[in-house]
Amino acid sequence: MLPQLPEDVSLLLSTLNNHGYEAYIVGGCVRDSLMGRTPHDWDLTTSATPEEVKTCFPHTVDTGLAHGTVTVVLHQNNYEITTYRVEGDYEDCRHPSYVSFTRNLAEDLLRRDFTINAIAYHPAEGLIDLFGGQKDIENKVIRGVGNPDQRFQEDALRMLRAIRFASQLDFTIEPVTRNALQKNAALIQKISGERIREELGKALQNPYPSRLCLLWESSLLPYLFGEDAAEQLHHAQQSILDTLARLPPGTALAFAAFLDPLPDMVAKAFLKKLKFDNQTLRTIRTLLSERQTELSPDPTSVRRLLSRLGIKRGIALFTLKQAQGNPNAPACLAEAERIFSRGDCLTIGDLAISGADLLALGYPQGKALGDTLQALLDQVLAHPEINQRPLLLSLATSALSGQKSF
Ligand code: ATP
Ligand code: MG
Repeated sequence: MLPQLPEDVSLLLSTLNNHGYEAYIVGGCVRDSLMGRTPHDWDLTTSATPEEVKTCFPHTVDTGLAHGTVTVVLHQNNYEITTYRVEGDYEDCRHPSYVSFTRNLAEDLLRRDFTINAIAYHPAEGLIDLFGGQKDIENKVIRGVGNPDQRFQEDALRMLRAIRFASQLDFTIEPVTRNALQKNAALIQKISGERIREELGKALQNPYPSRLCLLWESSLLPYLFGEDAAEQLHHAQQSILDTLARLPPGTALAFAAFLDPLPDMVAKAFLKKLKFDNQTLRTIRTLLSERQTELSPDPTSVRRLLSRLGIKRGIALFTLKQAQGNPNAPACLAEAERIFSRGDCLTIGDLAISGADLLALGYPQGKALGDTLQALLDQVLAHPEINQRPLLLSLATSALSGQKSF
């Protein structure tokens, strides 16, 4: 299906055209439209230089001027407009030695990675498809633009991108591109952790397992993890693929499922290299460190686990274990739903009394106060019905007078 442009995107194109510049939508949005998928964003490419783009629109942000990208803000949405670009020689398999702008669309399309990503579209001109991208979409094939061997040597991340698109779109990698990938696999070591994180993350989420196996077949794994760890990933390949196919989308879940068979040290080093944000990193670490935790679906155990890990991480653990085929995980998830709908107390903050109440009873400031609240919480996790102010106050009073200890 030809791209159906949202009004804003048509406006961006016509504004640039009215100022005398060429402009097209390009890349993922054209590919996804042609495949009948809904594009998640709309990237534009133009003959206007970034400075010229900025004169065409009142609200712009300089996102990546050095790479020719200006973000235009229109009706509270952001659109990336990138000047036609030519990249100079690549010196280190990841950075072009210079980026220069061109007024020629064909040159810009030539520097793109795969034929399916190198199609431009303008409503008045139709599709500009210089490398047979439409045919490759029809045949579900990933093919490098130009000479794949050279293109992977220019930017080794493209190898992982090839696997990512195959996994996401259910495509094969055509033989010349695939041979070039095998040959250049070692170059992946030159790529920064952040770039690997983005592409690997997309490859692992919502994968077509029969395609994601390309990651195992590609020879990239030993260069990403070392020989021993790659061996362990090979042994666990089928179970990882099965788990990933059953997981809902989520970066932490996907990486935890993937790293599951690796020793802690190896997984930790890899996670460090990938430079995750703190939240995601903590979730992945929690999921990995709870690998051996036995699940039991009785209400108290489920409450205790949700309380110990936090609700989000607790649910993530049940979800991961469910995808891994743990027989108790579905019942734990169902029990968690009941716990949430009843509003059972799970944290110290949910208790019917607070630290201030304990101080008023005569508890001294300090650690003992926190310990007492934790002890009360432990009781309430086992017996949610006692989370009532008078009951908890009397328990705390008895504990203080030594009649009862928690
Ligand atoms: P997605 O839908 O996942 O965003 P996409 O095709 O838009 O897919 P992006 O990573 O957003 O992928 O890149 C946008 C476009 O920029 C690509 O379609 C491709 O034309 C080009 N591109 C991105 N990365 C590279 C690269 N490393 N080498 C060459 N071209 C690239
Ligand atoms: Mg994109």
